[in-house]
Amino acid sequence: MPYLYFDSAATAPPCMEALSAVTTAYEAYGNPSSLHAAGMQARRLVEDGRAGLARAFRCEPRELIFTSSGTESNNQALFGLAKLRGKRARTIISTNSEHPSVENPLRALEEQGFTVKRLSTAGGVLDYDGLKTALVQTPVAFVTMMQANNETGAVYDLPRVKRILEETGSDALLHCDAVQGFLKVEGDRLSACCDVVTLSAHKIGGVKGAGALYIGKRAHALPPLLLGGGQENGLRSGTENVAAIAAFGAAAAAASGRKDRLPYLASLREEVLRRLQDSGLLFHLPERHLPNILHLSIPGVPSSWALNFLSERGICVSAGSACSAREKKKGNPVLKAYGLPDQEIETSLRISFCEQNTMEECAVLCDALRDCAKLKR
Ligand code: PLP
Repeated sequence: MPYLYFDSAATAPPCMEALSAVTTAYEAYGNPSSLHAAGMQARRLVEDGRAGLARAFRCEPRELIFTSSGTESNNQALFGLAKLRGKRARTIISTNSEHPSVENPLRALEEQGFTVKRLSTAGGVLDYDGLKTALVQTPVAFVTMMQANNETGAVYDLPRVKRILEETGSDALLHCDAVQGFLKVEGDRLSACCDVVTLSAHKIGGVKGAGALYIGKRAHALPPLLLGGGQENGLRSGTENVAAIAAFGAAAAAASGRKDRLPYLASLREEVLRRLQDSGLLFHLPERHLPNILHLSIPGVPSSWALNFLSERGICVSAGSACSAREKKKGNPVLKAYGLPDQEIETSLRISFCEQNTMEECAVLCDALRDCAKLKR
């Protein structure tokens, strides 16, 4: 790599298996809907991709549809669930730290007359009692919450959310944005507790241009967002991105087959924490967290200074999510929701690891962060 890349939560480097799947797929250039040999060859790649993803996600291949991105999947899930459930109930429960591809559709649904209750996620802990109270107060159309936060790395307990839905007797459907959590949270089988789940290829070592939506039995009537030729079982029209789908399946299969992957990511995070113990940097450490995200503030050094300083040394990290990095907006609602004071928000950085990172790279990063702290205003 020409630079030290610590921004895998924005996009992870594609794995070898994904790159090789892309090359094969571009050679099989048929349209997967065509009935001739070239079409059938492309169709096989799409179905192999679906099978690979289904094994990694632990569901049936027919329960997955491919979209263009996590953003599209979230939009289809939210607008679809609102259409499906909106006649029965007009309340939606979510959290106050969702990704813009959930938060902005929620705002659009509020404009259409839905009420959205946003639960607290202070300190990276979901307000499970608040969820219980909200569910018994009023009929709820659906609940939508992320599995893991893209900025702080906080992980929420989706199986517990499902148990609360059952205990309160609510028939609300449950959607989860698992873009950051997929293949990074051990143990949680989301196909067993959620009705609809969003996945994205480029966060797990696939390539950009493919997302997926898991649609379980209770949500089988979820309507499409795009109308057209009826691809993906009528649920997502548009010619499939064969190469990105093939790479998605290959990356999911490869990642789920490497048992040492999560401990290795966690050891990189631990190494950075260990090296910076007495550095004066402030770490934001949710108790349940992803193994690959470390969020911190450098007192007195605005994020933009730190980004430039590190970038000049060839080190890539980020401040906030990549999607909103170019948006001029006041404050950071996700970090506010976590409970950080303004001065820590303005000086915050997100470091995110991938399997290609090494302990030596972590040492270089830590030296640079110590030097960066000397820029203090
Ligand atoms: N949800 C979360 C939690 C994310 O972190 C992202 C991307 O950063 C998305 C959704 C959007 O995914 P995509 O980039 O595939 O549109």
